[in-house]
Amino acid sequence: MIYMDSAASTPVDPRVLAEMAPYMSEQFGNPSSVHRMGRRASRAVGAARKEVAELINADPSEIVFTSGGTESDNTALRSARGRIVTSKIEHEAVLAACRRLESEGTKVSYLPVDGAGRVDLEALRREAPGAALVSVMLANNEVGTVQPMARISRICKEAGALLHTDAVQAVGRMPVDVQELGVDMLSLSGHKLNGPKGCGALYVRRGARAAPLLEGGGQEGGLRSGTENVPAIVGLGAACRICRQEMDARVARCGRLRARMSGRILSEVPLSVLNGDAGRRVPGNMHFSFPGVGGEDLVVKLDEYGVAASTGSACAVNRQSESHVLLAMGLDREMVAGSLRLTPGAQTSDAEADEAVEAVKRAVSELRRVSPLRAKYGF
Ligand code: PLP
Repeated sequence: MIYMDSAASTPVDPRVLAEMAPYMSEQFGNPSSVHRMGRRASRAVGAARKEVAELINADPSEIVFTSGGTESDNTALRSARGRIVTSKIEHEAVLAACRRLESEGTKVSYLPVDGAGRVDLEALRREAPGAALVSVMLANNEVGTVQPMARISRICKEAGALLHTDAVQAVGRMPVDVQELGVDMLSLSGHKLNGPKGCGALYVRRGARAAPLLEGGGQEGGLRSGTENVPAIVGLGAACRICRQEMDARVARCGRLRARMSGRILSEVPLSVLNGDAGRRVPGNMHFSFPGVGGEDLVVKLDEYGVAASTGSACAVNRQSESHVLLAMGLDREMVAGSLRLTPGAQTSDAEADEAVEAVKRAVSELRRVSPLRAKYGF
C-alpha cells in the first residue's frame, strides 16, 4: 500500500516504539508511587514533558498530557468563562464541543473564511472584544491552510481574549513556536507526528486559566486526573525529539514531494484544481477537486490500486456528508463532491509519489468515463 494519508495518522517511528517498550513491560511503575519504580516512571514522564515543551518552545510546566487532540481541544474550550469565537473550518473536536457549550447557554460565533480557507480578520476584530476565548486552528486538516496566528494573537490581545489554537496538523510537520504565535493554549496529538495514538498534550501558558474535564487524583497539575499513560507519554516525548532534530529535513522532503506530485496532477489531470492557500499550507498537504468525480468513489478506486488517500477529514466516524470546510470556502457543490486529499509523509519515496500520481490519473479518468457530468465538462 502506498500511504498518502499522513494527515489522518502516521506510523509510529521504530525508534519511538523502542523507547516505549520497557514502559509496557518491566518499567510499569505508577508515577505517583513513592518507591523507586514509581520515581523512575515519574522521571520518564518529566523527560517527555521537556521534549514536548522544547518542540514548541514552551516551558515544561506548561505542558498537560491528555489522551490526544480531541481531549486537548475539549479541555481548552471548556475552560472558557464566557463567549467563544471560533471559525467555520475547525475540526469536529472543536465544533462539537462548541455545539455542546451552546446547548448549555454559552454564546459562540463562527468566523467566515475566504476562498483559500483564511480566517476573516475583520470579522475577528468585530467579534473578539468581550469574548472569553478565541479558538482558531493553526493548520486545517483538510486543505492544510495555515492561519496568520501572530496577527490573530495581536487582535485577541487588544481585545483581552484568550487564544487557543488546534495545532494538531501543524506540530511536528512545520516549526511551531508558542512565543512567536502568541497563543495561550495549543493542542497537539501524538499520532500525527509518528508517535502513538491516544496520547497528546495541551500547552497552557503560565498564568492562563484552564479547567479540567476530568476530576480525580489531581495528576497533571490538576488539569488531567488519571494515572498517566506512561508508555504513550514516553513515545510522544521521543517523537517530539525526533521531529525537532529532523524538522528541516522533513519540511524540505515534504515540500519537494508536494511540488513533484501537485505539479504533475495539475498539469496531467484535466480540470483539476488545488484547494487551499497555495503558499501558506502544511508541508506535504495537497487537496484537489476533480469535477465530474465522486470523492468517495475516487478513494475506493485508489484503494483498489493500492493507494491510501482520503476525501478530507478521517476523524469523524462513518460520515459521508459534504465537507463543511470546502463549503465555508465557497466551493461549488461539484468541486466539493470531487475532492481528494493526498498527504505523503517523511517516509514516502519519490517512486511511491510517482506511482500515486499515475493511480490518481487512471482513477479519475476511469470514473469520468461513466460520469453523468461527462457531457457538461466534455471529458
Ligand atoms: N484536530 C485536528 C485538526 C485533527 O486533524 C485531529 C485529527 O484527527 C484532531 C483534532 C483530533 O485529534 P485526536 O485524533 O488525537 O483526538
